[in-house]
Amino acid sequence: MYIGRFAPTPSGPLHFGSIVTAMASYLDAKHNNGKWKVRIDDIDSPRILEGSELAILKKLENLGLHWDDKISRQSENIKEYKNALEALKKKNLTYNCRCSRKKILESTQSDSDELTYNNHCRNRQYPPSHTSSIRLIANYKSTNFNDRAQGPQCHNINNSINDFIIKRSDQLYAYQFTVVIDDELQSVNNIVRGTDLLNSTIKQYCLNSILNFSKKTYMHVPIAIINNQKLSKGNGDKLNSNNLSLILVEGLKFLKQKIQKDIEDGSPEEILKYASDNWNTKPFQKLRSIELNPTQCLIVDNTRT
Ligand code: GLU
Ligand code: ZN
Repeated sequence: MYIGRFAPTPSGPLHFGSIVTAMASYLDAKHNNGKWKVRIDDIDSPRILEGSELAILKKLENLGLHWDDKISRQSENIKEYKNALEALKKKNLTYNCRCSRKKILESTQSDSDELTYNNHCRNRQYPPSHTSSIRLIANYKSTNFNDRAQGPQCHNINNSINDFIIKRSDQLYAYQFTVVIDDELQSVNNIVRGTDLLNSTIKQYCLNSILNFSKKTYMHVPIAIINNQKLSKGNGDKLNSNNLSLILVEGLKFLKQKIQKDIEDGSPEEILKYASDNWNTKPFQKLRSIELNPTQCLIVDNTRT
């Protein structure tokens, strides 16, 4: 059975971009007679904004994006993270890293927005400490996969570079690590999310196979941008409309879905039923981002501009 999910970080209320991502994962799951689960990514404490979990869940409910099964939270999975980390340590696949972000920036030749680490500490045998991070000795062989929207993802990564962090120097488990365990625990087999996470999928793919977890299918949908910048909960981008049907219809237009005129006045549930029956992933193939149109901008309260 298809099992999909939406995994918001409660760093602020949902904005139009996150609603589009939620809709895409919901519609893809429902179109495939699957389940759609919700997980709250709540362990990155510096990013958490109090009250936003409730606001997010309420908004999803109001929009008719009803989830299956019970909500899960990363904060409930700490024991599993610990066990997985121990298992990786036992296999000698981890090491302690003392490099600061600044130091890595200085040594990296990569011009992408993701830092490429040169495995500086791999063979240094530093003892564990409360100020160092833990990295995974990555194996990027056979991490090529086909993204259902972005096409074949081939990685010509030299296997000797870019071991990635699984426990941060502030001693919090890293997103790349937790997400793989969370998805496995929820039996998720289809991951639909924004293209802002496409580049890190290779790390998750790699970890997923090291941990012998079941294979997942990926689809990265275009992200919403305004003046060339992506919307962000943490930056204070909010929804500026309470018209739920309008938000859903604009979300469908953003995802380039066919819309019947009379459906626009329907209830959120009616709109979503129509949209899941008619869900089509072809119109957004290969699109990484889409600039919002003027009506869509109206439903974004962009406090940065
Ligand atoms: N919690 C992540 C975010 O809000 C998404 C995680 C994921 O979909 O893998 O950006
Ligand atoms: Zn290091």
